[in-house]
Amino acid sequence: MQRNNVILPPKTIGIIGGGQLGRMMAIAARYMGYQVAVLDPTPNCPTAQVADKQITAAFDDMEAIKQLTEISEVITYEFENVDLEAATYIEEKGKLPQGSFALEVTQNREKEKQIMHDAELPIPEFFIVKNGAECETALENITYPVVIKTCRGGYDGKGQIKLTSVADVTEAMEFADKHQHCIIEQWVTFDKEISVVFTRSQSGEIAFFPVGENDHKDHILYQTTVPATISDLVKHKAIDATIKLAEKMNIIGTFAIEMFVNGDDIYLNEMAPRPHNSGHYTIEACNISQFAQHIRAICGLPLKKIELLQPAVMVNILGEDMEHALQHMTNSNDGYIHLYGKDAVKEKRKMGHITFIAENAEQVNQQVTTYEGEKA
Ligand code: AMP
Repeated sequence: MQRNNVILPPKTIGIIGGGQLGRMMAIAARYMGYQVAVLDPTPNCPTAQVADKQITAAFDDMEAIKQLTEISEVITYEFENVDLEAATYIEEKGKLPQGSFALEVTQNREKEKQIMHDAELPIPEFFIVKNGAECETALENITYPVVIKTCRGGYDGKGQIKLTSVADVTEAMEFADKHQHCIIEQWVTFDKEISVVFTRSQSGEIAFFPVGENDHKDHILYQTTVPATISDLVKHKAIDATIKLAEKMNIIGTFAIEMFVNGDDIYLNEMAPRPHNSGHYTIEACNISQFAQHIRAICGLPLKKIELLQPAVMVNILGEDMEHALQHMTNSNDGYIHLYGKDAVKEKRKMGHITFIAENAEQVNQQVTTYEGEKA
């Protein structure tokens, strides 16, 4: 694949997708002096508010993709569901250093699991099913509990159901008949969920951010704690698996892999070919953020060696937490608040996040406890 040479400011970086990830990428790029153009159908979306230019069009509008490619020196994206025709077009123009392959894989849980399997990485046992009958057969060959997920389009726990016994077979078969392309996975027991966020340069150098420990509420990431409380063995296994996958997929840019930890065992769950919610803490807690490092990678600049400056906890601010977060901002100097500029406050919608950092984990936890306590 054709690779771009070094791209320096004030050249233009194009971003497909105008949500919070695009916004934080754009802010990092503008700090460095780059110009930013964003493609998103919503006028004045979170990224457009901090970009130089917005192309307001659908993500699969090829005319808009061509226009973005024309005005940008390099293009990146903030989500994995980029139209593959669009991605291939940009790649052929030599302006998509991340390539289209990582998108192709992460858009499809079958491909994602298959590549992990081929790399001999630890994953839950799985079956791919195309209809209810295949689902019934698969369920005869796996031990409950299991989870059935759509292969495409699921996120934050949407598009999946947990099955605890044979009593759930009918529901699973209906799900498989409806969605047609599904994965049935062994439900693994785990002590904690972690994510490995890293950046890989175009020359194959990898820089790891400290492993984060994630807590979810209703399947949505609620908080990330860094450093994760994991053994050196688990950390070693997680990093080792990440290197294998990153090299096998020739990943470029910032990327995240979510994993389950059970004792000293790890299981890879899913991956995101972009900066990740569990890496937001890097903005304040590290010497370089996951967004700035991503910009360096796609622009062909050498990566920075990463240092954790202070332990951190990042807490998401959902629609229902807005009032509380603003109140905290008014009353306390603890925490660094980020609001994404979304037009409407909705329940469960990610509106922003707050990162607490301090000299030691105890002090960070104290700040988080105080913040949580104010909610009541
Ligand atoms: P996913 O959309 O695959 O990230 O799944 C959402 C959440 O469901 C995960 O963060 C886990 O908490 C849970 N989950 C998904 N798959 C499994 C599994 N195979 N075993 C245990 N928990 C799972």
